[in-house]
Amino acid sequence: MTKDWNTRTQLVHAGSRRSQYGEMAEAIYLTQGFVYQSAEQAEARFIETAEDEFIYARYGNPTTRMFEDRIAAVEGTEDAFATASGMAAVNGVLTSIVRAGDHIVAARALFGSCIYILEEVLGRFGVQVTFVDGTDLDQWRAAVRPGTKAVFFESVSNPTLEVVDIGAISAIAHAVGALVIVDNVFATPVFSTAVAQGADVVIYSATKHIDGQGRALGGVVCASRHFIRKVLEPYMKHTGGSISPFNAWLMLNGMATLDLRCRAMADSAEAIARALDGDARLARVIHPALTSHPQHELAKVQMKRPGTMIALDLAGGKEAAFRFLNGLKIIKISNNLGDAKSIATHPATTTHQRLSDDQKAHLGITPGLIRLSVGLEDTGDLIADLKNALQVI
Ligand SMILES: *Cc1c(COP(=O)(O)O)cnc(C)c1O
Repeated sequence: MTKDWNTRTQLVHAGSRRSQYGEMAEAIYLTQGFVYQSAEQAEARFIETAEDEFIYARYGNPTTRMFEDRIAAVEGTEDAFATASGMAAVNGVLTSIVRAGDHIVAARALFGSCIYILEEVLGRFGVQVTFVDGTDLDQWRAAVRPGTKAVFFESVSNPTLEVVDIGAISAIAHAVGALVIVDNVFATPVFSTAVAQGADVVIYSATKHIDGQGRALGGVVCASRHFIRKVLEPYMKHTGGSISPFNAWLMLNGMATLDLRCRAMADSAEAIARALDGDARLARVIHPALTSHPQHELAKVQMKRPGTMIALDLAGGKEAAFRFLNGLKIIKISNNLGDAKSIATHPATTTHQRLSDDQKAHLGITPGLIRLSVGLEDTGDLIADLKNALQVI
């Protein structure tokens, strides 16, 4: 039945489980363990755990399972596993599939912590990682080889909003038997069609749009039942990266409004991008809805909407960027995204500070670049706030 529902209905109802009390709102099962009726029942459950049975919250919990079932329904995968954070999800997926000597190909433009896992952690265990320019299909073709274990990329890159071609890269990867792992945070679960285009494993930091109110950390991996239960779950349940039932409950409730919030934020983002495009104080306004965006056409195919994020490149460099940030009144200076509150970030000095000047230049992280996560405030107020801050530089 759930399969026939449209996304908005799934976001409200999919995965709901009710106790004998028939509670309307989803219950928080704030429990680590579960009581068995007998020693025999305990023994049987450790041999095989049925759909509605639980052992320990690190393995699974009814509230967590509701969140997993709901996101899997929306994403269109057989199953999902919720994790303590987006990074626990990325680390879990990558670490659970590789062994020493394996090869992974990854896009260079990645969230900083993902680069740390690929280079520092996996590197230490003898996993080889080839980094490519995510938008250059020839580089992907040249980098994969028979036996390449997986390819990994952000479908929309942070912070410069490059759109990476899921369909084309999936074809290249599948031809050599590699798993396609997509960090889909910027695309959001409601605008994404990653699985339909060939992705095998889709990862979200639920901390972002899914919670949507900047309250809690969480992550989730969506994939086939085999991958979730036979590959990922054993690794996650024994290494401790599971989400807390309370955070899963926050995410579950965040999902009910996810579609409405993302649409409102995307409407504002597009309006802001158009309002600022062409301003002489900006070297570039980056948003996939603008025809000047290098992957404007691809974005139309790959995402239902061009998203809730914008990047602005101030012509006056770091000095102008700082004055601009300090001139904002409604929009907050911070580094989260997908929040109801609009947030401006200066990647060069914060989220991407660790990179060398060369690496920053290569990734388009200029001294004047500002990443803007558009929230739920009134669009006119946000445009006025941005224009006012541009005035003071
Ligand atoms: C935030 C983010 C992560 C990490 O998620 P956490 O919940 O902070 O651990 C990974 N990838 C992308 C693209 C992100 O934006």
